[in-house]
Amino acid sequence: MPLYIDGQYIKTEESIPVYHKYTGEVIASISKAGRQHVIQAVDAAQRNFNKDSLTPVQRYAILLKCAELMEKRRDEFERSLVQEVGKTRKDAKGELDRTINTLRLSAEEAKRIAGEMVPLQATEGSENRIGFTIRVPKGVIGVITPFNYPLLLGVHKVAPAIAAGNTIVIKPATSTPLATFMLVDLLEEAGLPKGFVNIITGAGSEVGKWLLAEERIAMYTFTGSGEVGKHIKEKSGLRPVALELGNNSPNIVHKDADLDLAAQLTANRSFHNAGQACIAVQRLYVQKEVFEEFTQKYVEHVKQLNIGDPEKEQTDVGPMISEKEAIRTEEWVREAVSQGARSLVEIKREGALFYPAVLVDTKPDMKVICQEVFAPVVCIVPYDEVQEAFEAANTSDYGLQAGIFTKDLQLAMRAAKVLQYGGVVINDVSTYRNDVMPYGGIKNSGIGKEGPHYAIQELTDERMVVMNL
Ligand code: NAD
Repeated sequence: MPLYIDGQYIKTEESIPVYHKYTGEVIASISKAGRQHVIQAVDAAQRNFNKDSLTPVQRYAILLKCAELMEKRRDEFERSLVQEVGKTRKDAKGELDRTINTLRLSAEEAKRIAGEMVPLQATEGSENRIGFTIRVPKGVIGVITPFNYPLLLGVHKVAPAIAAGNTIVIKPATSTPLATFMLVDLLEEAGLPKGFVNIITGAGSEVGKWLLAEERIAMYTFTGSGEVGKHIKEKSGLRPVALELGNNSPNIVHKDADLDLAAQLTANRSFHNAGQACIAVQRLYVQKEVFEEFTQKYVEHVKQLNIGDPEKEQTDVGPMISEKEAIRTEEWVREAVSQGARSLVEIKREGALFYPAVLVDTKPDMKVICQEVFAPVVCIVPYDEVQEAFEAANTSDYGLQAGIFTKDLQLAMRAAKVLQYGGVVINDVSTYRNDVMPYGGIKNSGIGKEGPHYAIQELTDERMVVMNL
């Protein structure tokens, strides 16, 4: 795919292949942008922001139409996600459902952007003043997305940015860029004027550098690793950033939990997208009295998972994004085992396919438990008193989402208060995300919230208006 700037495809001299993540075949190639292309893309976004604002009703109609068109072309999108990410069909369908919903939610929010009255007249000397705020779009938004949910996470940024009246330059992950091209194509078919969303591709280290140097970009919204997130924050100066970063989700299974439900949900949601989800279940803290029973049920579910070709309808766990990542995962798991951890299932890797691993007897400083594993690996750790589980859950530098299974309402509410995470899910897994909700982490998991309503707050400026009557 060439770059897409101001409605024109621009092919550059150098290109980067895009692989089918299971078969390894080349399925496309993308152009490598140079500095001048980044400048052109920002020019186009800025020009279109200044000249051509869409009304809220127009933005609503475009986003809604885009959702409708995507619904009609589900097969095309599903096929592309399966190929470029290595997602199973089940995971690709799930990503599509959520993407369509997020487009619809963003459409609705386009009609709800509002300020508030400010009671100036209640201050002595200001009796004849009226004050209110309005929300105005920020301008050109720099969007940078990761490989794992290239369509959904792109839409979580692009759709609210459009709903808010901004224009966009987007840089998708180099390994999974195709979903972004398909999305922008559909947005334009739905009525978005050309030049409102511009796509540049190339290595993050190069294109990212030029993008961050562009002072005309009013705000960056990024999802990806903590390392790159910190770099973006450093380079963006006083401009605002929204950063959705890494995580290491803990899930607590208390002795009074519905163990069947807990085992089924945690086993299913530990390994979807081959564990490459920022809120995937990574650490399971299970109360000692139910540890054996829960672990047995959990492993039974894991053994039933179908691993392999993502194109096959029945596959539950497909390949990781690359063989390199699968090798890194295998090394972390084998290192843990060499330091005393035990695997309850066979440790197995075939190319980029890493079979789900379930570890017990881990120590808190092993990489598999104290770092973000971002792979199909789960550590199950017993605890005695629930306070121990809370403390262990909070030892992480990350803080995106956590889960707890318990029938005790008091304990559930205590968990909601004590767990240092952006979201706490009760009687479901940390992986639960409904796109309407405010979503974002604390600590090293990032800054700012997604979910169209909340993202729009960040993608607009609040302007105070004072009238002297
Ligand atoms: P990554 O940080 O390697 O890359 C993300 C994007 O940043 C890519 O488009 C990449 O090209 C670009 N990039 C790389 N270097 C850059 C630079 N110097 N300047 C600007 N851009 C640069 O992340 P990834 O491997 O694609 O994704 C995995 C990570 O994303 C994991 O840590 C995961 O937890 C995180 N993630 C977080 C969430 C969330 O909502 N919090 C969701 C999904 C993924």
